[in-house]
Amino acid sequence: MPSTHEVFNQPPPLTGYDVAADPAMLDALRREGAGWAEDEVREVGVLAGSAQAQEWGRQANEHPPVLRTHDRFGHRVDEVEFHPAWHSLMTVAVRHGLHAPPWRDPRPGAHVARAAGFYVWGAADAGHCCPISMTYAIVPALRHAPELAGRFEPLLASREYDFGLRPPGSKRGLLAGMSMTEKQGGSDVRANTTRAVPAGDGGYLLTGHKWFTSAPMGDVFLVLAQAPGGLSCFLLPRVRPDGSRNGMRLQRLKDKLGNRSNASAEVEYDEAAAWLVGEEGRGVRTIIEMVNMTRLDCVLGTATGLRAGVTHAAHHSAHRTAFGRKLADQPLMANVLADLAIESEATTMAAFRLAGATDRAARGDEQEAAFRRLALAATKYWVCKRAPAHAAEALECLGGNGYVEESGMPRLYREAPLASIWEGSGNVAALDALRALTRQPETAEAFFAELDQAAGADRRLDQAIARLRKDVSDPAEERARYLAEAMALALQGALLVRHGHPAVADAFAASRLGDEATWGHAYGTLPSGTDTAAIVSRATPEILP
Ligand SMILES: Cc1cc2nc3c(=O)[nH]c(=O)nc-3n(C[C@H](O)[C@H](O)[C@H](O)COP(=O)(O)OP(=O)(O)OC[C@H]3O[C@@H](n4cnc5c(N)ncnc54)[C@H](O)[C@@H]3O)c2cc1C
Repeated sequence: MPSTHEVFNQPPPLTGYDVAADPAMLDALRREGAGWAEDEVREVGVLAGSAQAQEWGRQANEHPPVLRTHDRFGHRVDEVEFHPAWHSLMTVAVRHGLHAPPWRDPRPGAHVARAAGFYVWGAADAGHCCPISMTYAIVPALRHAPELAGRFEPLLASREYDFGLRPPGSKRGLLAGMSMTEKQGGSDVRANTTRAVPAGDGGYLLTGHKWFTSAPMGDVFLVLAQAPGGLSCFLLPRVRPDGSRNGMRLQRLKDKLGNRSNASAEVEYDEAAAWLVGEEGRGVRTIIEMVNMTRLDCVLGTATGLRAGVTHAAHHSAHRTAFGRKLADQPLMANVLADLAIESEATTMAAFRLAGATDRAARGDEQEAAFRRLALAATKYWVCKRAPAHAAEALECLGGNGYVEESGMPRLYREAPLASIWEGSGNVAALDALRALTRQPETAEAFFAELDQAAGADRRLDQAIARLRKDVSDPAEERARYLAEAMALALQGALLVRHGHPAVADAFAASRLGDEATWGHAYGTLPSGTDTAAIVSRATPEILP
């Protein structure tokens, strides 16, 4: 066969690069006290950028989990089958301690090191990060039941991925989930109707439905249910200590927009055995400690998605020529890429500042806990809102190739809206920021103290902070989004001005802050004179030799 055409002007595949070669992330890792983890983060980064890990990510999403409700004889089994690629992804995540180990690691910076691994490894696949995140997040809530924490925490922090339904105490490592949302209410969990009845042996029996419960092959779940003393939090094992299956029936798996490698189930609890965590009637206060940790991972996971989007866009544009010039050298494309890169760097810096605050708060630093309380809610609201448009724009940089599944960009795009829905949907997150602002004045003090550290360094940032101070004096509920956005932008600006690359900080301030901000309504509207080449080079990946 004579060849009919030659393939040219297509970029090389973006495999074999170090995802951790990410200047904003590496600087933040050191600044937030975890420079000691850099070698392992780089190791995870090389693995995440390998053809092997990318293939696992592709396979795990193209072969989504399958629910098996019954065995061939008609017995209920309620098991979910995963493609082997899912198990490979989980094995790496658990081996590198991207779940609960920092809770048992006395080194300052342990939570930051884990955040970096989570951020880098998430580039391989977002879906499996859900059970990894929940296993991280359960620990502070579980500590409200010291006896249960003593029993299960070491297994939740184990670096062995031990898949399968067996009694938790008999396994080498455990994974956790969270079961709150019911058909009639997800944000308003006080509307939960699942009942918890004392079993007489110190435990409880739970009966009711849950409309969303992700990672249902986990070993233990925090579940909200109405006990005699009010809405309470319970730890529910998938398999009872005597080896029998607990009354946790999986009705269906959700057919989701994205996040397809992960299973999210509808669950019916039928006198399922569970143990009380915290006091009866204080279930929301207890489980919110888990939610607060998964919110951090919503921010980190979003930062991962933004970085992946701009990396792919920059790589494509560095290799593709149109109208006689590389796309990356076309002034308007350089503007788009730089704008995407700025958004990504600002998000990464905020995410790591929050991971640092988490680390210090976990070690008893109250000022950092207060800062985190407000800053996390506002940042979670804003960065998650930015993600879908960012993914769409990054996809478009690849032209038609970006719309085709093989590019991986559609997966990124479908994932993008999820973090905003999870763990406090947009409005709920913004209202939570407002609640902190108005009811916990110490959080506003800590937040403005952080901003004040950047005072005088950039006129536009100073203007934005001055305006924010005025704006927060009118904390009307309908202004919650406006205020959360302004807070998040001021925090990102302050971090960039103090610690960021000068070209990134300048372009961020010129476009997103200050009284003369010249930003348009789409990405790619940075003002003339922006040093786009310096900014884009920080997002352009290098293929390893
Ligand atoms: C893929 C996926 C996996 C999930 N996994 C889990 C899981 O493992 N465990 C679990 O418990 N849940 C899980 N969820 C559920 C998720 O947490 C809820 O969907 C979310 O909390 C929103 O609840 P809801 O769907 O009932 O919406 P609603 O609470 O009805 O909210 C609908 C809309 O109203 C807005 N809203 C709510 N209250 C207010 C208000 N006071 N003012 C203004 N606006 C308001 C919300 O922001 C939202 O936009 C999952 C969801 C998805 C999509």
